[in-house]
Amino acid sequence: MEVYVMGSDQRSVRCARVSFGKDEQTDPERDKKLLRYLFKHRHASPFEHNIIAFRSDKKEWLGILEKLENPAVQIYHSGGFVWLNLRNAINSMEHLPEEIFEEIKRFFPATWSIVEKRGDVSDEELSKLPYTRDRVFLQEKMETSSGWVGLVDRLELGTDMDYYTFIVECPLFVARQWHRHRFGSYNEISRRYTAYDIKFYIPEVLRKQAKSNKQASIDEPVKEPFHTEFLKEIKRLIEESYSLYERMTEREVAKELARGILPQFMKTRYYWTVPRISLDNFITLRTHEGAQKEIREFAEAIRDMVGYKGTDRKNRL
Ligand SMILES: Cc1cc2nc3c(=O)[nH]c(=O)nc-3n(C[C@H](O)[C@H](O)[C@H](O)COP(=O)(O)OP(=O)(O)OC[C@H]3O[C@@H](n4cnc5c(N)ncnc54)[C@H](O)[C@@H]3O)c2cc1C
Repeated sequence: MEVYVMGSDQRSVRCARVSFGKDEQTDPERDKKLLRYLFKHRHASPFEHNIIAFRSDKKEWLGILEKLENPAVQIYHSGGFVWLNLRNAINSMEHLPEEIFEEIKRFFPATWSIVEKRGDVSDEELSKLPYTRDRVFLQEKMETSSGWVGLVDRLELGTDMDYYTFIVECPLFVARQWHRHRFGSYNEISRRYTAYDIKFYIPEVLRKQAKSNKQASIDEPVKEPFHTEFLKEIKRLIEESYSLYERMTEREVAKELARGILPQFMKTRYYWTVPRISLDNFITLRTHEGAQKEIREFAEAIRDMVGYKGTDRKNRL
């Protein structure tokens, strides 16, 4: 059977470790223990960044859907393929065709052994399990004025459900806009866990509020001396709030509360795995002149990396 897979055991681990900002640091022995922990404690979202596609007609796909008792399982059909992520494959394994499991086991040997034994795997057994890694950390990376976006991987079969995984580093307010794009999966650094690598975006130019559109700006800086003055104030306040944050965490204030003092200019970092139809929708909406400049730059960078295919035009609304 024609089966295509994007991801590896390590991919889930990296998407889990981004919570601590440590997604670049992996080690097979520790990683396999983490996979067991994630599975046993139902920390499921890191598994969503692994994608499986297999050739199938709509009849077979509908047959699978018909057997599902769990309404939360998401399995799609596009361009002659059934598409699902690893989380959905785990949740529907008894209904999927036998032939795909050879590939699933080849791409996710550690994960699948843990799943098959329902997490009941000793450290010794774990140490003997094979483990798969990603070929590269990032295939491509582009800077924007407020952060960067990197392409981790892609699975392109020429369908509306082709999949892409990106890493994004951007200010909190850009992330808030981005995460409104619900069709896709996210795993993000958690400021409940870690004070690691806190950075801030400080705009070079303070754009003027647009008069014609209440939520937009125009490409013109506010007048001097206010421009220089406000930029100086912004830097001072960021330094002050970060210093208070540090003092609080040093004196055992929980990070989950201390972070409340950090401004929206703080950067966050997340993995985003997204199907083409949702990616095209993102590109259409966020490259539009009505979108905020900072997110527009990201959407343009993504379009430059993987193109725009117009699949979102199928949506009437
Ligand atoms: C310029 C601009 C201004 C905005 N202003 C605001 C604002 O002021 N306040 C605010 O809250 N948001 C605002 N948004 C966010 C906007 O309302 C959308 O939430 C966001 O653009 C994501 O779009 P989407 O729902 O099409 O994408 P996704 O959530 O990624 O959905 C992709 C596609 O999946 C389908 N879909 C997903 N979920 C559902 C569902 N539950 N029901 C039916 N179909 C679904 C649809 O076909 C959809 O097009 C703004 C967006 C833009 C671009």
